[in-house]
Amino acid sequence: MYSQDSISGRRRGRPEPTAETLAGLTCLICGTDYRNAPGPEAVVVSHRDDKQLLACHGTCARMASGSVNGVDETPLPLAERVRRHQAGGS
Ligand SMILES: [Zn+2]
Repeated sequence: MYSQDSISGRRRGRPEPTAETLAGLTCLICGTDYRNAPGPEAVVVSHRDDKQLLACHGTCARMASGSVNGVDETPLPLAERVRRHQAGGS
């Protein structure tokens, strides 16, 4: 007998941001990984604790914050976000 319960822990469609999103490494809305896709411009759309949540400039930002430009705040450089994410994981 095989139990499916033990391998179904990874579920789709959960609303809570991932660790990468909380670190500002991926889009809050569409999940684009800014480390792999430097093309889309990321803007700050929200905050969780003292971290910036980012989304792609345009449609994603408007869905997240109501403005295509997000909030009027400059996101941390990608390298700094990566460094903090790697340092912050415990
Ligand atoms: Zn996006």
